[in-house]
Amino acid sequence: MFEKILIANRGEIALRIQRACREMGIKTVVVHSEADREAKYVKLADESVCIGPAASNLSYLSMPAIISAAEVTDAQAIHPGYGFLSENADFAERVEQSGFVFIGPRAESIRLMGDKVSAKHAMIEAGVPCVPGSEGALPDDPKAIVQTARKVGYPVIIKAAGGGGGRGMRVVHTEAALINAVAMTKTEAGAAFGNPEVYMEKFLENPRHVEIQILADQHGNAVWLGERDCSMQRRHQKVIEEAPAPGIPRKIIEKIGDRCAAACRKIGYRGAGTFEFLYENGEFYFIEMNTRVQVEHPVTEMITGVDIVQEQIRIAFNEKLRFKQSDITLKGHAIECRINAEDPFKFTPSPGRITSWHAPGGPGIRVDSHAYAGYFVPPYYDSMIGKVISYGETREQAIRRMQIALSEMVVEGIQTNIALHRELMIDARFIEGGTNIHYLEHKLADMPDLAKKNQ
Ligand code: ADP
Repeated sequence: MFEKILIANRGEIALRIQRACREMGIKTVVVHSEADREAKYVKLADESVCIGPAASNLSYLSMPAIISAAEVTDAQAIHPGYGFLSENADFAERVEQSGFVFIGPRAESIRLMGDKVSAKHAMIEAGVPCVPGSEGALPDDPKAIVQTARKVGYPVIIKAAGGGGGRGMRVVHTEAALINAVAMTKTEAGAAFGNPEVYMEKFLENPRHVEIQILADQHGNAVWLGERDCSMQRRHQKVIEEAPAPGIPRKIIEKIGDRCAAACRKIGYRGAGTFEFLYENGEFYFIEMNTRVQVEHPVTEMITGVDIVQEQIRIAFNEKLRFKQSDITLKGHAIECRINAEDPFKFTPSPGRITSWHAPGGPGIRVDSHAYAGYFVPPYYDSMIGKVISYGETREQAIRRMQIALSEMVVEGIQTNIALHRELMIDARFIEGGTNIHYLEHKLADMPDLAKKNQ
């Protein structure tokens, strides 16, 4: 096994990867910016290297700084976590060219899946159902765009081929608004992702977001580890995730899961990955693939007993998968609440010093967080400061345990969205299960009442 791994990330995922390494007896190197110097998880690592100032583009996104850190510390492999350089094919390539192992897919797979147009194309070829839409990128000719939209049928959504993080999308309801919307999305996509290419999809009105977790080794084996429902979203960003997805017949999920594993074998995929789908009226429609570990991976770990981060490391070390599809069984139910440093109802970021921190515990509760009393939440990065995960034999028990966990949790000195999660855990529609991707936004439209109630 590797003797030393460099973790090219920060916050809770840097700590999560560190824990996986320690359990496996692997030494860790954590790289950090000047803003993260004092964080306890940095001190917990066997070695740490400051790679630059607070701004991500000068530290966590600096390929030469990270590769030099691996060289001076003699690390053998680099784990990129999620976000930052995790889905950057050039980084994966440079890591391997420098003689290190990239803990993730081959650069070629990242490139294929990172461009949503080529990803959809590959999925169609592999027999994975996609949202109906344009065949490939939209042309420049306005007439052709109008024709495509008529064929797809309104409403349509214009999406950036290079988009991510819920950005670079625009919904169009009428032909009159179409050409302008395409032009604006193109301009934005060019500026934000360096790729102005856009494509069109039918805008599904009441879908759920359901995704399939897969693991594939370098010996042609691939398995899927059940699904996650991530429909509770705000601005296309996930707020709560759960596994399994409530109320969807197992037969339908098994069929799509098997397709995803087969697609991995077909494209020679290696590592952990997620196929994201919209689910509506009993049908799955592929939207994109994430070629990395995801924020919400713990809910899958809780119901399968598989440690996804450790498996990523074993696969990168060229080991064979230790289980077959028939060995994977789903047991119980898990829910994850993302804890953000932000106003719970206005969503303005709330960085600063945490003066008091009490994490919940007890049966079936897992807290993945790098925060503690005295920790300073820097203003430069994502506002997520941790995740509370609950497990139960049934969904009811998982919800009950999450309600108790959230009632115990205390974070002072900064604002967090815990109050919002408390509301959602007693929401009648959530408790019923199966809400769609627009549900939270609609609920938040009643925000003044909610905010008042929680004052
Ligand atoms: P990103 O890479 O930015 O996360 P995705 O393609 O995964 O973008 O889409 C993110 C979210 O946007 C989805 O979970 C869903 O809420 C919404 N969305 C994307 N495509 C469609 C569509 N065709 N119809 C309706 N909603 C969509």
